[in-house]
Amino acid sequence: MMERVYNFSAGPAVLPLEVLEQAQKEFISYEGSGMNVMEMSHRSKTYGGIIAEAESLLRELMDIPGNYKVLFMQGGASTQFAMVPLNLMNKNKKADYIRTGQWAKKSQQQAEQYGDIHVVASSEDKTFNYIPEYSADHIRPDADYVHFVTNNTIYGTRFTELPEAGNIPLVTDMSSCILSQVYDVSKYGVIYAGAQKNIGPAGVTIAIVREDLIGNAMDITPIMLNYKTYADSDSMYNTPPTYSIYIAMLVFRWLKAQGGVAAMEKRNEEKAGWVYDFLDNSKLFSATVAPKDRSLMNIPFVLPTDELNAQFVKEAEATGMVNLKGHRSVGGMRASIYNAMPDEGVKALVEFMKRFEMANGGKA
Ligand code: PMP
Repeated sequence: MMERVYNFSAGPAVLPLEVLEQAQKEFISYEGSGMNVMEMSHRSKTYGGIIAEAESLLRELMDIPGNYKVLFMQGGASTQFAMVPLNLMNKNKKADYIRTGQWAKKSQQQAEQYGDIHVVASSEDKTFNYIPEYSADHIRPDADYVHFVTNNTIYGTRFTELPEAGNIPLVTDMSSCILSQVYDVSKYGVIYAGAQKNIGPAGVTIAIVREDLIGNAMDITPIMLNYKTYADSDSMYNTPPTYSIYIAMLVFRWLKAQGGVAAMEKRNEEKAGWVYDFLDNSKLFSATVAPKDRSLMNIPFVLPTDELNAQFVKEAEATGMVNLKGHRSVGGMRASIYNAMPDEGVKALVEFMKRFEMANGGKA
């Protein structure tokens, strides 16, 4: 069997080996059914058990209050960029957006098709390498919601505190940080996330929606983009992405066996800490994000020249550490270290960076 690599991809990303092995065991016949989960009717009793377990495990892991619905959808986080305004921007047709990166910008641009959007704060002036501050009076009191991206995958920043929004519902894109640390769900109106980082395979998109925000969609809302459609049918109005939800269930079981989200948060802080400590003490490498806004999941860093960046990515790949090239808008490198990235992978990366610095320090 081929050795597994350490995969630092931003997404789709590394999954826990135990999950892949379990899926492999059940590949030909799931629990005596004689078929793979992807061959099964979504209305079967067996599949009903899978989606119900996925939901109840997520509720347990995130301590989701009873007045929130958990919805399993398709279309990726990008479809939520439309679903959020269609479902929520229905009272005053106004919403406020915090612009902290490409995804924040795309969500804002999509919402602009449906109403009056105001950008509360932006960090575009410095290539989004920090989380902008603003005073509460920048939020319009009649905004239907305030939208922000909790963790900015491309730039490696995260909100460490909730943005100010008064009584206005907070809506957040948690695609690249859901389940990585403890979040108090009761503080949000809507949390949504594409699955392909901390949840499972691409194909399923999860939204956690406060019940009072469901059922007021704009008249033009297609049935498939209405939260109510999913809430009323236990996410079974049509065929859900069955296999992706099954793998998500296995990931949730794995997370629970690891001690849950609080234990994961502690490990993620440690793992990210090893990389940031190295970067902050290095004479050759540097982190691109100010310490207070640094992501635990995506760590961008740079070397002094493009040649060294390219050399680093190439040599890392040769030692089995892949997908370290940074996003084209930032350059350099980016190590994505989601929940499923083992400690050994992060340690191997830091060891490699040390060796690289020793070998190339003279070139700086
Ligand atoms: N939001 C964030 C924060 C992301 O990182 C991504 C994907 N990298 C997206 C949205 C887009 O997700 P999708 O491809 O599922 O539409």
